[in-house]
Amino acid sequence: MKVVRTIQDMRQLQSELNAYRDMASLVGFVPTLGFLHEGHASLLRRAREECSLVVLSIFVNPLQFGAGEDFDKYPRDPKRDLRIAEKEGVDIVFMPEVSEMYPRPIQTAISVTGMTGLLCGASRPGHFDGVATVVSKLFNIVKPDRAYFGLKDAQQVAVIQKMVEDLNMDVTIVPCPTIREPDGLALSSRNVYLSPEERQEALVIQQALKEAEQLNGEGKAGLHELRDLVIKRISASPLADIDYVEVVSYPSFYTVDQLEKLEPGQLADSQILIAAAVRFGKTRLIDNCILPLRLRT
Ligand code: AMP
Repeated sequence: MKVVRTIQDMRQLQSELNAYRDMASLVGFVPTLGFLHEGHASLLRRAREECSLVVLSIFVNPLQFGAGEDFDKYPRDPKRDLRIAEKEGVDIVFMPEVSEMYPRPIQTAISVTGMTGLLCGASRPGHFDGVATVVSKLFNIVKPDRAYFGLKDAQQVAVIQKMVEDLNMDVTIVPCPTIREPDGLALSSRNVYLSPEERQEALVIQQALKEAEQLNGEGKAGLHELRDLVIKRISASPLADIDYVEVVSYPSFYTVDQLEKLEPGQLADSQILIAAAVRFGKTRLIDNCILPLRLRT
């Protein structure tokens, strides 16, 4: 496993590798903020299965953190990350400093509009511009054939897919399922911030989403009712402070109100995303489920 810290070294390594690679070989890429867990490892494993070369990036990107967010105290443990990367068979770890990625103030941004006005895009202004901009920089540096993203961040997947489609980027985005603790809590690097009580209460998010899934499966609830149910269940937890609970079509992000006004056949999507962001103390957690769209007639 090679650890690369500069863009120049990454390019140099790639041109050396290219000389040996045959045309059929694929470069798989997993971009992360580091502090790796089983969710990240699942993306690396999928990339390992499908690609001949696996590149992991570890970079806490300041551009995607807003003022007052946790950029400075975001958990970091590069030594442990490298051990996990080695165990998962990663070939190249790209871990640049901020000064390497942004040597001068950046004056270019990639901004995906529309869908970023909702959910995390609404509560974290500028976040998805920061994500789209760094991911396009990383795509230009790593030049992957396939890039692996977790559906725990379903809006991020939709934003990246739209960016790739709109800008004709030559990379296939591979969405991967959310990995959870045995009790259902979605794995997140931020889970380490939770106190034992908050950790226990945080289970309410997944429980509420599961109930909504069941109700949707029975075809008994409209989209507003699904949203109301999730809000009611999460609000019952004394430690939970809801940032948002939203139901949108997926991946086009029509809101419930917009969906109800559509004529039959106007919507290409056959799925809904129920997404929640909830604060427990100072920790903001997100989770979601993607379900079949059942519009009641
Ligand atoms: P992050 O380091 O949080 O930016 O995450 C890097 C990648 O790992 C993103 O594509 C995330 O969606 C994905 N990821 C994070 N948590 C999970 C999880 N619990 N299950 C699956 N993928 C995840």
